[in-house]
Amino acid sequence: METRPTIGIAGLGRMGHPIAANILEAGFPTIIWNRTRDKATDLLERGAVWAENPAAIAGAADIALTSLADPIAVESVYFGPNGLLDRARSGTILVDLSTGSPALARHIAAAARERGASFLDAPVAGSIKAATDGQLGIMVGGDRPAFEHCQAVFSAIGKAAFYLGESGSGATMKLVSNAILATMVQALAEGLALGEKAGLDPADIFTVLGASSAAAPVVAAKAAMVSERAYFPAAFTLALMQKDLWLVRGLANELQVPMPATAIAHDMVLAANATGKSGMDFSAVALLMEELAGARES
Ligand code: NAP
Repeated sequence: METRPTIGIAGLGRMGHPIAANILEAGFPTIIWNRTRDKATDLLERGAVWAENPAAIAGAADIALTSLADPIAVESVYFGPNGLLDRARSGTILVDLSTGSPALARHIAAAARERGASFLDAPVAGSIKAATDGQLGIMVGGDRPAFEHCQAVFSAIGKAAFYLGESGSGATMKLVSNAILATMVQALAEGLALGEKAGLDPADIFTVLGASSAAAPVVAAKAAMVSERAYFPAAFTLALMQKDLWLVRGLANELQVPMPATAIAHDMVLAANATGKSGMDFSAVALLMEELAGARES
């Protein structure tokens, strides 16, 4: 009988938790770790095994997934004391599902290679609902054989996995995608503020946009949240979007690529965070634009 690989997951946040739940549901032996242990409780009740630290995950898992907030968290979980790279061994595949820096992905891949292990940068498209439904899109950079080896895991958490090339390619693709997403939401926020200040009902604006060539999945997905100004609970926070746009700007600077619309989207996300909105869903740039325009009474 074929034995299923043991899957480790470090990082049980808004995305990591449902991802871990789907790995368990698919029947993989599962070992988990999170900085804050409480978030693991229900997964442990459902059969996951607790690891005392990321190194213990690398010691036990054939494939170790990470879903972490930002590059600082990723560096500490991979390179820190009791980090994943402490115990990664020949044949271990490390897969970072976080949205991160292409340069850091290449750095981790080199360190993994020195230990005979493989590393894939594999950030995901789709938010909490897609993670819960096992419908993520996965953008992967790194060794192709390692990518092929992870197909069953990718199928358990996603609807499609795209192999994009060498290490850093997945991270790069995700930054391209989020640069576009952020500028789309900035454009939506501006149009909405204009329409509202001119007297249109936001619900009508969304209905008509949905039937126009400006219709887009993000417009439909954020219609209720934005119309009702109900930005909690956040799916994807403004804090995380600021991090992503900062990474986009770093890559654009490195490669000398002007991205004027993205620069403005970045500054508006920054302004939203500076005015206390960092825990809200990233669509709350619409709230900021309404405030700046005096378009809606608070
Ligand atoms: P989240 O809910 O804020 O979870 C962040 C995770 O990182 C938590 O497990 C947190 O641990 C851990 N963490 C933070 N700092 C750490 C540190 N210094 N050391 C160790 N662990 C640390 O974020 P999320 O929404 O799940 O996002 C996770 C990743 O997926 C991010 O890179 C994000 O950009 C990306 N992403 C998110 C979405 C979305 O819609 N939310 C969509 C696509 C991609 P604690 O529980 O202890 O705080």
